Amino acid sequence: MITTYIGLGSNLLHPLEQLRNAVRAIAALPQSRLAAVSTAYRSRAVGPGEQPDYLNAVLRLETTLEPGQLLAALQDIERAQGRERSVRWGPRTLDLDILLYGDALIDSPALTIPHPALHTRNFVLYPLEEVSGPDLRLPAGDRLGNLLDQCPRGELAATGLHLGQ
Ligand code: ATP
Ligand code: CA
Ligand code: CA
Repeated sequence: MITTYIGLGSNLLHPLEQLRNAVRAIAALPQSRLAAVSTAYRSRAVGPGEQPDYLNAVLRLETTLEPGQLLAALQDIERAQGRERSVRWGPRTLDLDILLYGDALIDSPALTIPHPALHTRNFVLYPLEEVSGPDLRLPAGDRLGNLLDQCPRGELAATGLHLGQ
């Protein structure tokens, strides 16, 4: 089994329900075991125009799916929950990003792992710490706790809401 971390985000149509449905769908993936789910965090949208706030979370999934298979499975779940790809970084019902896949370094047109914005996004790093602990090492060697020291919490708000499983 490979340990992977997946980032979840939603800012449309009942984000809390979107995230809970996504957790259920990910828990049902083949060749995989859902190991931990963070609580939900509220963050201001980055991207064009006025957008509703996001809810974000991170989960840890043990899987033997290959990275490309995992991406395809996550995109199926996004589509099943009504994700429409129109405006880049526009509002969406569900966004699922592969943050880490074991120690893999992948840089292909369809897939970049670690996720390129992982290091700088508070709404990824804080929920990630909940499911990995601060001693997690990224493939390049950075310790998660050190990245958090350099990433202010800002307006990120812990809701304390659980997403199930
Ligand atoms: P950001 O990457 O800044 O978080 P986004 O999540 O809004 O932006 P999307 O429109 O959801 O971007 O995805 C665009 C493409 O990114 C996808 O079609 C997918 O092929 C690609 N992609 C590259 N690396 C990853 C990854 N680690 N996880 C998920 N998708 C990825
Ligand atoms: Ca994203
Ligand atoms: Ca995405």
